[in-house]
Amino acid sequence: MNKVDVIVVGAGIVGLAHALAAARRGFKVALFERTSPAVGASIRNFGQVWPVGKSGGLFQRAMKSREIWLEASRGADFFCLENGSLHLAYQDDEMAVLNDLYAQVPEVREFGQLLTPEQVFDKSQAVKLEGLKGALWSTTELNVDPRQAIRAIPGWLARTYGVELHFGTLVRGINLPNVETTAGTWQAERVYVCSGADFETLYPQQYAESGLIRCKLQMMRTVTQPDNWKLGPNLCAGLSLYQYTHTFAHLSSFTALKQRIETEMPFYVQYGIHLLVSQTALGEITIGDSHEYAMTFDPFDREDINRAIMDYLHTFAQLPSFEIAERWHGIYPLVKGQREIVIHPEPGVTIVNGLGGSGMTLSFGLAEEILSQ
Ligand SMILES: Cc1cc2nc3c(=O)[nH]c(=O)nc-3n(C[C@H](O)[C@H](O)[C@H](O)COP(=O)(O)OP(=O)(O)OC[C@H]3O[C@@H](n4cnc5c(N)ncnc54)[C@H](O)[C@@H]3O)c2cc1C
Repeated sequence: MNKVDVIVVGAGIVGLAHALAAARRGFKVALFERTSPAVGASIRNFGQVWPVGKSGGLFQRAMKSREIWLEASRGADFFCLENGSLHLAYQDDEMAVLNDLYAQVPEVREFGQLLTPEQVFDKSQAVKLEGLKGALWSTTELNVDPRQAIRAIPGWLARTYGVELHFGTLVRGINLPNVETTAGTWQAERVYVCSGADFETLYPQQYAESGLIRCKLQMMRTVTQPDNWKLGPNLCAGLSLYQYTHTFAHLSSFTALKQRIETEMPFYVQYGIHLLVSQTALGEITIGDSHEYAMTFDPFDREDINRAIMDYLHTFAQLPSFEIAERWHGIYPLVKGQREIVIHPEPGVTIVNGLGGSGMTLSFGLAEEILSQ
C-alpha cells in the first residue's frame, strides 16, 4: 500500500512550499506533478521576491518567504541574488508617490532610501539618467532564477526531507484516505491541492464557486548581455506605481499619477502593461509584462503588446543588448481584491491558490502559516 501522511498536488512554487513546510514538521510527504518537469506559472515568471510595499501582514509573510528562499538556494544550489530594487521616477507625480510611500510606510523607511539621480547611478549603470527625478531604493528584494529554482527544489526536498517525488503523474480524484493517481492509489491523512491554473481536474465545483479567474502575462528575455555586464538591482518605473494599486492607491498623490497615465497611456492601461526588469543566472535580462483577464485565452501572443513593453523599456533602461532571444506567456489565477484563496472542500483537503502576481514572494511564508494552523 502506498501510504503517506501528506500528499501535495502540483510542483509549482505553492506546492513546493507546502511540501517543504509539511516535511519539516516531520510528516511523510508525497509530491505529485502531472508534467515532468513542472512548466506552469512558477517557471515563467521573473523570479522576483518583492516584499517592498506589501501591507496588512503581507510584508512579514514576504520576509519569511525571503528567509526560506535564501535557505533553499543554498540547499538546492540555484541562483538567488540579494540585489534589492529601484523604483524609478521620471515625472513629478511619480516622485510624489514615492515620497508619500517613504513617509507613510514604516517598513519602506526601515529597508529603503530615497535616492537622487547621482545616487541611482552608483547603484545601477542600466538606468537612463536623462529626465530622472529620483528613485526609491529597497534592500529587501531577491532575484531568483525561476527555471533553475523550480527544477532544483524538488531534488533538495527529496534528499533533505525524504519527500517522495512523483513527476509525470496526474492526481485525478481525491476521496480520503484514497488519492487516485495515474500511477495507482495512494492513501494520506491530508492533501494540499496546489494546482495553479488547472481548475477543471480536481474539485471543479469549488473552483467555479471561488471567484477565481485567470490572468495572462506576456514576457520576453534578451540574449546574454556581453562582457559579463550586470543589471544591478531589479528595476521598475512609473507604470508599476499605477499597476500595483494595492501598494500605492491609498496615497493622496496617486490620483494625479493615475489621471496622467490614463490620459497619456490608454493602451498600457487597457492591457495592464508595466515593466519589471531582472537578470538571470546566465546574464540574460527578463522583461515584462502585460495583464489580460479571462477564463480562456487566445493562445497567440500579441506583438503590439510586446512592442509597447519594449518602447517603455527604452524610456528608462540602457542595456548593452536589447536583442530578444525568447518570448512566452504565463497564466496565473487570482480573485480580484483577494490575497489568496484557501478552501477546505472536504475534511483533510485544503486547496491553496490565487496568489496572483505574488506567488514567488509569498508562497513559502503562506505555507508556514497554513501548516501551523
Ligand atoms: C509571467 C509571470 C510573471 C510573474 N512574476 C512574478 C514575480 O516576479 N514575483 C512573484 O512573486 N510572482 C510572480 N508571478 C506569480 C507567480 O508566478 C505565481 O503566483 C505562482 O507561480 C503560482 O504558483 P502555483 O504553484 O500556484 O502554480 P503553477 O506554477 O502553475 O503550478 C501548478 C502545478 O500544478 C500542476 N497540477 C495541476 N493539476 C494537477 C493534478 N491534478 N495533478 C498533478 N499536478 C497538477 C501543474 O502541472 C502545475 O505544474 C508571475 C507570474 C507570471 C505568469
